[in-house]
Amino acid sequence: MSVRTATAAIDLQALAHNVTQIKKLAPHSQILAVLKANAYGHGLERIAEALAEQAVGAFGVARLDEALALRACGVVKPIVLMEGFFSPQELPVLDVNNLHTVIHNQEQLDALLAADLQTPVKVWLKVDTGMHRLGVEPEQFHDFYQALKKSPNVQDDIVLMSHLSCADDVESKHTPTQLSLFNSLTDVLAGQKTLANSAAICAWPDTHFDWVRPGLMLYGVSPMQDKVAAELNIQPVMTLKSSLIAKRFIKKGESVGYGAAWTAEKDTYIGVIAIGYGDGYPRHAPNGTPVLLNGRRVPLVGRVSMDMINVDLGGAAEGECADNIGDIATLWGAGLGIEEIAQWATTIPYELLCNITRRVNMTVS
Ligand code: PLP
Repeated sequence: MSVRTATAAIDLQALAHNVTQIKKLAPHSQILAVLKANAYGHGLERIAEALAEQAVGAFGVARLDEALALRACGVVKPIVLMEGFFSPQELPVLDVNNLHTVIHNQEQLDALLAADLQTPVKVWLKVDTGMHRLGVEPEQFHDFYQALKKSPNVQDDIVLMSHLSCADDVESKHTPTQLSLFNSLTDVLAGQKTLANSAAICAWPDTHFDWVRPGLMLYGVSPMQDKVAAELNIQPVMTLKSSLIAKRFIKKGESVGYGAAWTAEKDTYIGVIAIGYGDGYPRHAPNGTPVLLNGRRVPLVGRVSMDMINVDLGGAAEGECADNIGDIATLWGAGLGIEEIAQWATTIPYELLCNITRRVNMTVS
C-alpha cells in the first residue's frame, strides 16, 4: 500500500547553523529573528523554542496575536511588534506582556503619549528612508524622537530603525541612498540602530549596526538575486516531501491531467506524487519544474491539481520504470533549492513557505 505523506521536515540543526552563519557575517550586531507568518511557515512556537538557547537577542512579529502566542508558550526573550500597535486598547496588553513596539505614525505616537501605563514601553522608532511603506517622514523624525524621549510612557533607550527596499540587488543605488539618509538622521541621536534584513546582512555590511533582522536567511533560503543558499553557507530548514502514489505508462501523443495541458512526445512513464495546491505547492508551477526523486530530477508535467502533481519518469518501453510506489520525492529543501522552484513558479520563496497549508504534516529533527 502507498501512504499519503505530504511532509515538511524541519531541521533544527540547520536553523542553528544559520544563526551561527549570521553571527559570522554580522559579528558586532545582535540578532532580531523575524518569526512573523508562523515563522515563515516553519511553525512559530517550534522555531522560537529552538532559538531560545541560540545567540538571538529578540524576536520580531507582525501581529499582536503572534506575540501573545509566543508569550503563551513561555518565550521570555524580548518581542518586537514590527508594525506597532493598532489601537490604544492594545497598549495595556503590551505593558503586561512586556512587548516592544515600533512607532511609525502620528496616531501611534499620540496614543502612546496619552496612555496611562504601569511601566514605560520600549520603542523602536521607524523612519521612512525611501521604501515608502511604513515609517515617519524624515522631516518629522527628530520631533517624534524628542516627544518620545520626554514621555514617561517610553523607555529611555529608543532604537532607531528603517527598512531597505532593494538590498537583494547588489547593483541597486537605493541601498546607499537609504543608508546615507539613515546615517544623517540618526548620527546626531542617542540610541541603538537597526536597518539590515537578510539581504543586507549578506551584501551590505555598513548597514549592520546594533541589530540585524534576518527572516529568510534564518530559514536557510538565499535572499540574494545572484546567489544560492550554498554560496552563502546557509542550509534549508524546511524540506518538503511527499510520495509517489501511482505510475502509468503512456504512449507518445497521450496527454496528462486537467486541460490536457501536456502531451507526451514519446512513450514514457508518468508518476503521480501526493502533493498539490491544497498543500501549498504552487498551482502555477509550469511543465519542467524539477522534482527530486530517487536522486534524480524529474520534470513536472501537466497542471498542478489540488492534491497531486504528475512527473515524467521517463522510460522508453513498458516495464522499464525503476521508480516504485511509495518512493519519496522532494519538492524543495535539501537537494533542491526553493529559490529555483520559486523562479519556475514566478514567485518568491517567501510566498512558497508561507503558503504551506495545515494538512501538511510537520516533522522535526
Ligand atoms: N525587518 C522588517 C521590518 C521586515 O518587514 C522584514 C520582513 O519583511 C524583515 C526585517 C526580514 O526580512 P527578510 O526575510 O528579507 O530577512
